[in-house]
Parts: sequence; structure tokens; C-alpha cells
Amino acid sequence: MSVKKKDSDWSVSEIRAAVDAYLKMLALELSGQTFVKTAENLALRETALPTRTKGSVEFRMQNISTILMEMDREFIKGYKPARNVGSNVEQLIRAALTERGIQPGDPSAPTADEETLERRAAALQKQKIKEPPKGIKKPKRAASSRTAYVRDPEVRAWVRNEAEGHCDGCGEPAPFQKLGLPYLEVHHVKPLAEKGSDQVTNAVALCPNCHRSCHHSDKKNELTALLYKQVARLIPE
Ligand SMILES: [Zn+2]
Repeated sequence: MSVKKKDSDWSVSEIRAAVDAYLKMLALELSGQTFVKTAENLALRETALPTRTKGSVEFRMQNISTILMEMDREFIKGYKPARNVGSNVEQLIRAALTERGIQPGDPSAPTADEETLERRAAALQKQKIKEPPKGIKKPKRAASSRTAYVRDPEVRAWVRNEAEGHCDGCGEPAPFQKLGLPYLEVHHVKPLAEKGSDQVTNAVALCPNCHRSCHHSDKKNELTALLYKQVARLIPE
């Protein structure tokens, strides 16, 4: 891997250009407007970053997401935080964000975003809160920006029937019945949000434990690999 080389040779002005483009997109996202990532990427390479590849610009944007996430600030969901940020690059990104007035957020602030809530709670669990918190008596409803996908009930029915009442992951029987049928949740192995299909070649019936594990476990990649191995009809997309 040439990560080290890629990480170390970005100049201050290149990082600033990437951060500015990122913050512009973030402002659009937060105000509910749309933007095209690939067009922004190209525009950067035609101006401030002529020697960079599409992939390295994309990776840099993911690095910025990582730093913003660590700072407890909102970040662009379409740029998944990339773990391995070189320390040199990290310093440059942090400096550029500070220059633009971005300060760390409150790591215990209430939030309507499930991922943020979960990340903050995990960090607080490790610190061990001493007193029971006051909480929120009447939680406010937040406008949801979650995208719902139109899905085919026949796919859902067929996948469940194929499972014959047993989880496609662990093989255990469904834990209870709903509407007189074994309760299994239909999971898209390649997520719809990542352009996965709603077809039987990309769907399995899982018990709630396995379903949650596939989304949240530290071993979710291994679980996904296991599903591809175990369920013959699946076709990697
Ligand atoms: Zn299971």
C-alpha cells in the first residue's frame, strides 16, 4: 500500500482546497440541497488539485469526514469516514478546519441522528457516568431526512418462505410468530443505499440477532462473507 506516500505529500494549499470544497458540499447537504460528488471531485482536479487522482481526492474527503466525526461535528454521509488518516494529513485538515471556524462540538449533546447518538453513547459508556442523567422529558420530533426505498413484497415473501422458518445466518428457528408466520427480517446483503438490488439474489431472511449483527457488529464483514457462502442463490453485486 502506498498510503504513507499519498498521505504525506499533500500541501497545505491542497488540503485547504479539499476542506473548502467539502464544507461547501456539507452546507448544501445540511440545508437539504443536492450536489453531485463526482462533479465536485472533477472541479477540484481541474483547478486546485491537477496532479491528484479521482480516488485520492475521494479518500481525502473521507479523511475530512473522519476528523469531523472525531470532533463531534456533522459530516457528509456520502463520504464514509476512512480510518487510516496519516498524522501529517490529520494535522493539516484540523488546521484548515480551525481556520474556517470549525470548533469541536459537544460530545454529550442530544441528537436525532441514530449513528451520532450511538457513537456518543458508546464513548460515554466507556467513561462511566456516575449519576443517572436527567434526560429529556418530552423528546422533540426531528424532521427525518432518511431515504425510504420502494421494495417488492413478493421478494420479501419469497425469501422468507425459502428460509422455512429458520434464519439464513445462524440456522436457528425464528424467535416468535407474527401474523401467524415465523418472524424473520429480510436483509439486503449489498445495502440498497449502496445501490444493491431488491432481488432474491441479494436478499436473505435473518433472525433479529443476526440482522442487527450484519449492520452493527464489529464482525459484520465476516458475517456478510458467511452469508454469501451459505446461501446459494446470492450473487455478489
Ligand atoms: Zn440468526
